[in-house]
Amino acid sequence: FDFLAETDPAIATIIQQELQRQQDHLELIASENFTSAAVMAAQGSVLTNKYAEGLPSKRYYGGCEFIDAAETLAIDRAKQLFGAAHANVQPHSGAQANFAVFLSLLEPGDTIMGMDLSHGGHLTHGSPVNVSGKWFKAQHYGVSAETEQLDYDQIRALALQHRPKLLICGYSAYPRVIEFDKFRAIADEVGAYLLADIAHIAGLVATGHHPSPIPYCDVVTTTTHKTLRGPRGGLILTRDAELGKKLDKAVFPGSQGGPLEHVIAAKAVAFGEALKPEFKTYSGQVIENARALAAQLQARGLKTVSGGTDNHLLLVDLRSIGMTGKLADQLVSGVNITANKNTVPFDPESPFVTSGLRLGSPAMTTRGMGQTEFTEIGNIIADRLLSPDDATVAQDCRQRVANLCSRFPLYPHLNVPVPA
Ligand code: PLP
Repeated sequence: FDFLAETDPAIATIIQQELQRQQDHLELIASENFTSAAVMAAQGSVLTNKYAEGLPSKRYYGGCEFIDAAETLAIDRAKQLFGAAHANVQPHSGAQANFAVFLSLLEPGDTIMGMDLSHGGHLTHGSPVNVSGKWFKAQHYGVSAETEQLDYDQIRALALQHRPKLLICGYSAYPRVIEFDKFRAIADEVGAYLLADIAHIAGLVATGHHPSPIPYCDVVTTTTHKTLRGPRGGLILTRDAELGKKLDKAVFPGSQGGPLEHVIAAKAVAFGEALKPEFKTYSGQVIENARALAAQLQARGLKTVSGGTDNHLLLVDLRSIGMTGKLADQLVSGVNITANKNTVPFDPESPFVTSGLRLGSPAMTTRGMGQTEFTEIGNIIADRLLSPDDATVAQDCRQRVANLCSRFPLYPHLNVPVPA
């Protein structure tokens, strides 16, 4: 960082400002986390200089002996962590991982079926603005209107009606457990491949705090940067070695060029961390904290979608207090809480306005907070949302956020010098 302050003061300043922002705010975006300094060190290393098209010991470039060792470690640790026979650690992101799966299993015009975006699905599961919705016939299931949870009878009926070639489970905003065995039974009945996209819950799956999709799904994709707490990136897993070879080809040369070996080394570091007992304890705490937050918000009269959470996230349904997600997002943001507006199932508002606020516990759990602090966070959010026009309440909330942040320091030893 000393070099950067001298050679590029503009970027050094921005990094310093971003560090400060992360330190001063309560980070409740469910898809974010804080990596270890070791993960950042690997990512910020000389490995960024190396071209390594291909796979370990099957490269198109010379000089890959050390890169091969790093990528092999990443692959072996990923396989061990998830109990998978095959892993590809090269996808640049979760979207790239999903694209590679489509490229290996589907032809343009095939039917796919995933959850509706507005019920908690992801863009890459057949949204009309994404390649998955442009090149394939995308059908969607949603959650039940009564329980706001997956309704396997409805999913089965829709699958029998549409006969998808690929059935997708795994979501961006679903707070409950996914029963992969039930999806397997439906996929078998209609002759579909089954993909689990565990981008959000990967850390919980890796530590046994959520059932594993590996025994039931043909392919599993994930991001590495959410509950798994690694660098930004993607990962593909399968228990079928033959399918694994097809998936490898779909990543390179099918849809990517040179792998980001510095990121792959950082993935290896993160997988190594996730294999340690401390990470299992952390993941359990993530769930306890999300539950404490949901319980406190409910105690203060705020409704949560499906009545609570089994994982790391929850959705506040703001229709009960006549507020939009957009306004709620602005209000919490004004007291230094970072979250995101989100549609709730059957949302009457547009995706730009929404009726929900999505909150997650992974990042602040990494900072060391427990249920007591998450109960206080619930109170701060409730105080702010229930008195939107009260500047004194806002000031009080800001102070309480500052107190929490100072009690649980983030990257205290990371020194980013500001240019003179
Ligand atoms: N799949 C799911 C379920 C996600 O929630 C996300 C990101 O939020 C992705 C895929 C895409 O990941 P990325 O942003 O790394 O492309």
